[in-house]
Amino acid sequence: MTIPLDAAYADQLDAADDLAGLRQAFVNDEPDLIYLDGNSLGRLPRATADLAADLVRRQWGTRLIRGWNEGWFELPERIGAKIARLIGAEPDEVIVADSTSVNLFKLVIAALRARPGRERIISDDLNFPSDLYILQGVADLLGGRHEIAMAYSSDGIHGPVETILGLLDHNTALLTLSHVAFKSGFLYDMPALTAAAHAVGALVLWDVSHSVGAVPINLSESGADLAIGCCYKYLNGGPGAPAFLYIRRDLQAQLVNPIAGWMGQRNLFNFDLDYEPAPGLRRFLTGTPPVVSLALIEPGVDLLLAAGIDRLRAKSLAQTEYLIELWQQRLAPLGYTLNSPRDPARRGSHISLGHPEGLGIDLALINELGVLPDFRAPDNIRLGVAPIYTSFRDIYTAVERMAQAVTEQRYLKYRDHRPAVT
Ligand SMILES: *Cc1c(COP(=O)(O)O)cnc(C)c1O
Repeated sequence: MTIPLDAAYADQLDAADDLAGLRQAFVNDEPDLIYLDGNSLGRLPRATADLAADLVRRQWGTRLIRGWNEGWFELPERIGAKIARLIGAEPDEVIVADSTSVNLFKLVIAALRARPGRERIISDDLNFPSDLYILQGVADLLGGRHEIAMAYSSDGIHGPVETILGLLDHNTALLTLSHVAFKSGFLYDMPALTAAAHAVGALVLWDVSHSVGAVPINLSESGADLAIGCCYKYLNGGPGAPAFLYIRRDLQAQLVNPIAGWMGQRNLFNFDLDYEPAPGLRRFLTGTPPVVSLALIEPGVDLLLAAGIDRLRAKSLAQTEYLIELWQQRLAPLGYTLNSPRDPARRGSHISLGHPEGLGIDLALINELGVLPDFRAPDNIRLGVAPIYTSFRDIYTAVERMAQAVTEQRYLKYRDHRPAVT
């Protein structure tokens, strides 16, 4: 297929997009900036900016400690129940707490304790490094009995599905993977891998940080045991927003939070001296929730629910296909490689393009060309498509500027530059 390489065609696609109006629901102070990093830090919803003012000035400033009885206490479950609708879970199966990394720590320990005698934990090299560090730390903490069996991708793009299937055995306690890989955007078949792990009696924990809000997820239908996810990416919850965790209902009473704290205690205001876990998911809370950042997650989730995850996925697929077509015609001849799956069914909502001058190109885009992608070593320029606010014109313009970065050799002056955050 060849598509027209002009801006008018991009505008035509935007005109036919029935989600295009949602862009206006987000703050956009720099209309000329092409923002393709919504998979790392989502944009600020206008409603969130208004809520922040109310939260700080009125709820905290005026209501003071009364706020806890006026909605703050229930926020972890109430917002969790809304996120549940995006991930195919029941309202009482999701709670907002801590960071993604800390939630992983809690759930991995709980899972391993629920599979005593089994020593194998399986993951892959496409997983987010923090997830692997947490696994290593947990294995160490539990006395070094566990073996982390790593499956390696043959091309760095596609998940090593066959290797994972081969590693699953009756000694496996836990399989844990990122649903969408943070670098390549590879999307695992959640129901199939969950079923394979269950066939050997292992538990499965999915990190949906890079899929929630962009890809339909059905944890219930997949039979998934556990999941964690991030709220500052496609959920647009704000920098460092607390994360969520999911535990299938029938497992909740069996699992114990290794960071026992008073927010997970049964009757916390009795101030009993001995820990007794709360019924349900509140037992996976630990300390006092960060009310301000927690409350600010809600407007972004509401916008996604209003748009509908199936419509968002349809737009995301149309946009990543468009981007790949533009890459093929415009960027491949300039040395860019496609480092994401070509098959739309196996792809999340970001596209990684490689280039030998990748980091220099990334810095030229950011500093000179008005495009904000991000960079993932060794050579990936990662273009996040957030269908709720990314336009086809954004994608078209980004591709034109990526071409310009190479034809004008804009990368040259950044060759020795290594920024702290990419
Ligand atoms: C973004 C992301 C995280 C983030 O973890 P934090 O604890 O918020 O730093 C974890 N896992 C995956 C797969 C991610 O994409």
